[in-house]
Amino acid sequence: MQDKKQWGALDYFRIAAACLVIAIHTAPLSSFSDEADFVLTGIIARVAVPFFFMVTGQFLLPAWLFEKKADRAQIVRFIGKTLLLYGIATVLYIPVNIYADHWNDKGVAEAFRLLVFDGTFYHLWYLPALATGVSLIVFLSRKLSFHSVFGVGLLLYLVGLFGDSYFGMIRKVPVISNIYDGMFSMFSYTRNGLFFAPVFLIMGAWIGHTRLLWKRNAVAAGLAVSLTAMVTEGMMLHHFELQRHDSMYLSLLPCMFFLYLFIGSFRLKPNPFLRKTATWMYLIHPAVIILVRGAAKAFRLTGTLVNNSLLHFLAVSIGSAVIAVMIVLTFRGTGRNHPHRGRAWIELDRENLRHNVSELKKYLPETGSLMAVVKANAYGHGAVPVSKELNRLGIKHFCVASASEGAELRKHGIRGEILILGYTHPTDFRLLKRYRLTQTVVDVAYARVLNLFGRQIGRKVPVHIKIDTGMHRLGERSEKTEEICDIFRCTNLKIQGIYTHLCNAETVLPANRQLTLEQGAAFFKVLERIKEQGFCCPAIHLQATDGLLNYPELSGDFARAGIALYGMTSSPADRMKWKDILRPVLSVKARVAVVKELYQGEAAGYGLQYVAERDSRIAVLTIGYGDGLPRALSCGVGSVLLNGMEAPVIGRICMDQTLVDISGIPDVEPGDTAVIIGSSGNREITAYDVAERTGTITNEVLSRLGGRLERIII
Ligand SMILES: *Cc1c(COP(=O)(O)O)cnc(C)c1O
Repeated sequence: MQDKKQWGALDYFRIAAACLVIAIHTAPLSSFSDEADFVLTGIIARVAVPFFFMVTGQFLLPAWLFEKKADRAQIVRFIGKTLLLYGIATVLYIPVNIYADHWNDKGVAEAFRLLVFDGTFYHLWYLPALATGVSLIVFLSRKLSFHSVFGVGLLLYLVGLFGDSYFGMIRKVPVISNIYDGMFSMFSYTRNGLFFAPVFLIMGAWIGHTRLLWKRNAVAAGLAVSLTAMVTEGMMLHHFELQRHDSMYLSLLPCMFFLYLFIGSFRLKPNPFLRKTATWMYLIHPAVIILVRGAAKAFRLTGTLVNNSLLHFLAVSIGSAVIAVMIVLTFRGTGRNHPHRGRAWIELDRENLRHNVSELKKYLPETGSLMAVVKANAYGHGAVPVSKELNRLGIKHFCVASASEGAELRKHGIRGEILILGYTHPTDFRLLKRYRLTQTVVDVAYARVLNLFGRQIGRKVPVHIKIDTGMHRLGERSEKTEEICDIFRCTNLKIQGIYTHLCNAETVLPANRQLTLEQGAAFFKVLERIKEQGFCCPAIHLQATDGLLNYPELSGDFARAGIALYGMTSSPADRMKWKDILRPVLSVKARVAVVKELYQGEAAGYGLQYVAERDSRIAVLTIGYGDGLPRALSCGVGSVLLNGMEAPVIGRICMDQTLVDISGIPDVEPGDTAVIIGSSGNREITAYDVAERTGTITNEVLSRLGGRLERIII
């Protein structure tokens, strides 16, 4: 997805936007000048809500608008979440509505108007508008190009404009004003999900997609000009009393564009705390308005706290912020993302996993799907959390190495097909049935054994047939077409797929290329034979990571992506080639247990292999080869990061602990976090580095990371 990491300034502006929304509802300057208050709340503060739409657009919609290969499950989840929030807020505000008598003459039409467009409480219209706007764009983008969708968004905005700030211009025009009257029987304002939200959602998505970044000075100038234009426009419309409502202006469009780029030009890290606080401020501020008024009455402060509009605004803003912070702090730690991180742990970057999935999809043909390879505990990442996240991203096919790995996933509710790539002994066949696993047929003899099992249980066993096209590992030999057809004749097998594995796809050098294409040809020949024999050809797949990235011409119905999902390729030699496309998902971290001196001439660790050449400081880390840290990194081969600096490993790595030299690193204290794989400050140690230093491939480094490490998704 986008460089969400650098768009953190948006989180800061959310607080400002929340305050602007509060301003709209409290009219801070009205005690002093109606005109000034109008400029603030009727014009300037109108950037707040479009801003929220744009953020959603940026992070949710680019895939729909530009890639046409979007993740339906994600959208459904988003809309579900928005509507849930709307439902909760509606229920929470029921007492206020009853108190304020907002819901008198209830008819079905009135209820529809309130629920779908106006919002059940005066500021809640935003939530249904978000759901409507997103649904509309998703719907349109399936049929239309980006430009057309943008055109429709603009057109809708224009229609909305004449029902809002420019209403006065069409009020006297016969037919048109009748049309608008008709519309206003369905909703009170045109600033809703139909006319107002789409264009901003699309604009946000476009900025996200193009990764537009202009110089801050240029953007600031654009912002100044368009903001001035908007204030002028607003004051004119106000002066001539053309406004029916004051949410929509023509210059709001350029204004939002520049404002958004301006915020983005401050490249900060995301701040989830501010993000959550702003959301809560937005949701609770109407209740705080009531609280402030109540409190003012009780303490006889109405004169100061309510009648002075500025103090009223400040009281509501501060009150909302305080309560929001309290809510965020109270619920912190109850989420699944905050288990304790005591000793040594693995952090999984959800955003990077998502990014890799969407990048890899681009290498698939239109009809192809990813089959996520999550064997060996998802290459050490943790098969359950990774597969759950992949399920959320719409992945419906998984590969594991063994029946017990498959069973583990099912026990944790993973949905979709789970294919066992390896051999399953007949004593474990019952697991296939119990956990609805798909077995690989490793040769014709094995097909017969499986077929027998199918007959015993009176149910067809789902399988994929493996063809050996040259690796000479599992699979029936490709030239034995008669035997392969025999597999198709097993009536108790449900043949869902047929596949082979490429063993030479690591590069596109001529020798590798020839062998790989030969493997492909042998496989396709088998498929021909099967069809000639009148068998139905099931789903096919050949590519793993290397095949997918290097040999797109060998695509099938699936690609079995393993290491690439986790953000790398096997061989460190390829690291530069894919570094812009794949992003590492995992970091490994451990605590500093003890910091101590090591005097010149003293030795440390088993076998006293390290001798201090000068007085030094060392740290003892709570991770060792028992956690999967390769012992081959001992004695200066490996290093870790502390406070953004590199600390070499000294002496031999122990089973549970490791010593590092921190002489050059100030301020290291017990309890600090050392990064074993991952980044700290500007430094990064990747699984490639560890693989290179220990003479192996990333797959081995990762898949050996131990069960003792806690896995945390962030
Ligand atoms: C492990 C494995 C994969 C995944 O390989 P990567 O190179 O990690 O993508 C695919 N297919 C088979 C048969 C495997 O054993």
